[in-house]
Amino acid sequence: MPDTLVTAERSIPDQIAEYDAIVIGAGISGMFMLYRLRELGMTARVFEMGTDIGGTWYWNRYPGARFDSESWTYGYSFSKELMQEWDWKEHFSPQPDTLEYLNYVADKFDLRRDMQFSSAVTAAHWDDAANQWTVTLESGEQAKSRFLMTAIGILSAHTLPAIPGRDSFKGPAYHPARWPKQKVDFAGKRVGIIGTGATAIQAIPEIARECAHLTVFQRRPNWAAPLHNAKIGKEEMEQIKSRYDEIYAFCASTPMWFIHQPDPRKTLEVAPEEREAYWEKLYAEPGFGIWLGNFRDIGTDEAAAAAISEFIARKIRQRVRDPKVAEKLIPKDHPFASRRVPLESGYFETYNRNNVTLVDTLRDEPIERITPEGVKTTKRDYAFDILIYATGFDGVTGAFDRIDIRGKDGLRLKDAWAENPRTYLGMLAEGFPNMLMVLGPHTARGNIPQAIEHSVQFQTGILRFMQGRGYTRVETRPEQVEDWTQTVIRAGEKLLSSKVDSWQTGVNRNVEGRQIRRVLGYNGNGIHFRKLTDEVASGGYKEFSFR
Ligand code: NAP
Repeated sequence: MPDTLVTAERSIPDQIAEYDAIVIGAGISGMFMLYRLRELGMTARVFEMGTDIGGTWYWNRYPGARFDSESWTYGYSFSKELMQEWDWKEHFSPQPDTLEYLNYVADKFDLRRDMQFSSAVTAAHWDDAANQWTVTLESGEQAKSRFLMTAIGILSAHTLPAIPGRDSFKGPAYHPARWPKQKVDFAGKRVGIIGTGATAIQAIPEIARECAHLTVFQRRPNWAAPLHNAKIGKEEMEQIKSRYDEIYAFCASTPMWFIHQPDPRKTLEVAPEEREAYWEKLYAEPGFGIWLGNFRDIGTDEAAAAAISEFIARKIRQRVRDPKVAEKLIPKDHPFASRRVPLESGYFETYNRNNVTLVDTLRDEPIERITPEGVKTTKRDYAFDILIYATGFDGVTGAFDRIDIRGKDGLRLKDAWAENPRTYLGMLAEGFPNMLMVLGPHTARGNIPQAIEHSVQFQTGILRFMQGRGYTRVETRPEQVEDWTQTVIRAGEKLLSSKVDSWQTGVNRNVEGRQIRRVLGYNGNGIHFRKLTDEVASGGYKEFSFR
């Protein structure tokens, strides 16, 4: 199948173009960054690997892909007009609707005229004497700019499983993050899927409904809770629109900028019957409430985490008919909420279907290899027509590693961050002048679009400050980098999630050198992060060094 996601004919211009800023990526981050750069009167070029805008929502077209945050908290808030014009159709927007929304934004603000598609950036080198970045595309084309904005996402470097024979399968094999534009026809097909993360948990029920037989290869199960999606009627949407200021202000007042506020009580201080009733209520409600609106210590206290895990395990046992299958689906190696909780729509009931088989590759039958026909485990050969590698991403730093980024004195970003990223606020990296990162490592994330807007606002605030004073270079200060790096490390110390392997702790066994846990995000309170960035801005950005 031709890769229609990246391919388009383009010729290389004779001259090297120069811009004030180059933005890498035309997803939610790159689109908003371009909008703000234009407001500053800067010339900008966005280079995007795909054939169009959308980033995550461009690439992840797999069946079942959708927001698992409330749509009306997950769009842009910078334009009140846009907010009033756009009607979300579902509480948790499916990927096609989200892509339509982003296209609407790109059209409304005429963003495409400064964007170049099918243009993967392979290198970005800082020239200290010229005070300039030189960016190289896969085609060999080059461009120069004073500023480099990375808007490359935290989950964009997808990874295929390091399983022998992986490329020998003779049927079509897909990774969800490279799902083709053409509809994949599962009717009458034997399908195998490897991986049971948030992506697979969304895709499995959809594929099972269509295919002849689905075999799920699960290495380690994940905790998951119901999404409870629903359509949004016209009246409800009007009501949401009238409350947008209140909704966004509320999100900004929560630790992770979602619409869910943690319950200030501690789990074991609440009487068991009351606790149970509260969890029943949360389990029956839409969205992340069961995770982010739960008692405040479920992510830090082992006994609290064990109690909520037992509650969720009971739900799985109730929903899955075969007790042996249910036990396989219950994680035993990490508690609920210590990895990012996937939200599901009928995931557990899917295992009650007679066209679905769960293979436990950790305890029962490890995968030995991929064969031309399918998958060979230690116990048998499975034959498939279609294989799906839902095996995740090299999170946060992976997308940086795939670009040869070099800063002062030729310092390679990949080397500088080999053990741990070193940044100030996750926005500027030490040794890389004029490189501003949206969703860089060590920044606060939580609700991603809101984190993006906050980052872009802060960074374009720096640029405005520089314009006003004639500065052309911004860098980190060593003492601020050290201080921020330690703050980030300390903020994660008490979290149970820091003790668990996941993309969030930088572990990906399919990638060489990614077996050791790292701290990749600021896991402190988002309210404090906003306050800190506001103080840095109002104090005249003294924490940065300008020239
Ligand atoms: P993931 O959570 O990292 O899951 C990858 C899965 O593949 C895991 O089950 C992993 O097993 C398995 N795997 C990897 N390599 C394997 C191998 N060689 N052999 C066997 N199994 C292997 O990735 P994801 O599901 O793509 O989700 C990543 C993140 O994307 C989520 O946490 C979430 O933040 C985001 N996401 C968001 C949405 C949404 O907003 N709606 C939807 C999907 C994803 P092990 O656990 O044993 O390593």
